[in-house]
Amino acid sequence: MNEYDSNRILDLTKKINYISTKKIEEANCYILNTCHIREKATDKVYHDIGRLKKEFRNKTKPIVLVAGCVAQAEGEVILKKEKYIDAVIGPQSYHQINQTIRKLERREKFINLTNFDVIEKFDSLNSIKNTDNKISAFLTIQEGCDKFCKFCVVPYTRGAEYSRSLKEIVVEAKQLVDNGAKEITLLGQNVNAFNHDKKKLSDLINEISEINNLERIRYSTSHPLDFSKDLVKVHKSNKKLMPLIHLPVQSGSNQVLKAMNRNHTIEKYLDIVRELKEARSDLKFSSDFIIGYPGETDDDFQKTISIMNEIKFINSFSFLFSARPGTPAFNLKKTNQKIAKERLIIFQKIAEKIKIDYRKSLINKNSKVLFENKMKINNRYFGRDEFFNSVIVESDENLQGKIKSVEILNVNQNTLFGKLISNQNHENYAA
Ligand code: SF4
Repeated sequence: MNEYDSNRILDLTKKINYISTKKIEEANCYILNTCHIREKATDKVYHDIGRLKKEFRNKTKPIVLVAGCVAQAEGEVILKKEKYIDAVIGPQSYHQINQTIRKLERREKFINLTNFDVIEKFDSLNSIKNTDNKISAFLTIQEGCDKFCKFCVVPYTRGAEYSRSLKEIVVEAKQLVDNGAKEITLLGQNVNAFNHDKKKLSDLINEISEINNLERIRYSTSHPLDFSKDLVKVHKSNKKLMPLIHLPVQSGSNQVLKAMNRNHTIEKYLDIVRELKEARSDLKFSSDFIIGYPGETDDDFQKTISIMNEIKFINSFSFLFSARPGTPAFNLKKTNQKIAKERLIIFQKIAEKIKIDYRKSLINKNSKVLFENKMKINNRYFGRDEFFNSVIVESDENLQGKIKSVEILNVNQNTLFGKLISNQNHENYAA
């Protein structure tokens, strides 16, 4: 979502003639768009500002803005701690960025914009064309969260759940397709809670799939509680919807899920996976895990390993519990950190083995790959298969924006390597 927000910030600032540069030393305005999900993100802000100060030593200082969730959560603190920062702008206030830059040009200092103006924000953004021209583009459809998992900052930094209207989303999706997008990922902190005027995510997917030249649709990130029957069904009926679902489980233990306030059991999670597999048998899953949540016992941890082994997530993102200030879990007694770290290492080894075994199973099979860009070396093209695996092939033909059948020849932990198959109707697709 930060990538989407950054693109939209660029669309906004173009209106006052600020354009992006890859050369930091040229910048007269520096906007740091931040994430607050983990502790290191805040440290990174100070680190980046430190680098910037060095870069601009003996030169005119650029305007410096910190946007995003760190700005929302720690606005006053960072303004006081780091005087090099001129303004903080929360994720629901960035539509006011141009007025803020203008004020800073007039040397007004230390502006703190951290209101939750989400309706106003999207009203402003709707009036500006989305100029992102990537083959695979992001589109925010929903923001905020009402779930209040005890470890999570999102309800405090992005605010309550808000869904955009179907109409404005479709307009923006068409803009992205006109700009060249072949794939759109619908984004929301709780994307399957999307609900506007009784229109749900399934309605939106069906509506967007009517757009000519849009080939693929994805969505992220879902909560198990919001996996409604209609959304399950759309995985069966809508061929543009890709067969990978990112469905965070966080823990395999009901006791930990309860302590986290996830409000579902592991049995419920498995039911959803089963229903989805019944709807579309080749569906694959990826997930998020928190290891070492306060109170996690060895038995709880073994249950997390069991769920990993049972579902065989093809991608998993696992982290040690990170206590975020302002969340209910912040003051809980931490699990012994040595034990927690050992568990994380064990878990990640298992997850990596599952991932590499899955990747090896793709060798000599065919994948349908949407090519996103040409790489710098040897006529190589980078794309993604239907399951979001990175694929690289060599080709003299310009593949950008095309979907091609590829035979997978080799794999490593991060990438599949293949060759275009000459008969593009060839069957033997990976499932
Ligand atoms: S559902 Fe997701 S975004 Fe909402 S509080 Fe829980 S972890 Fe955070």
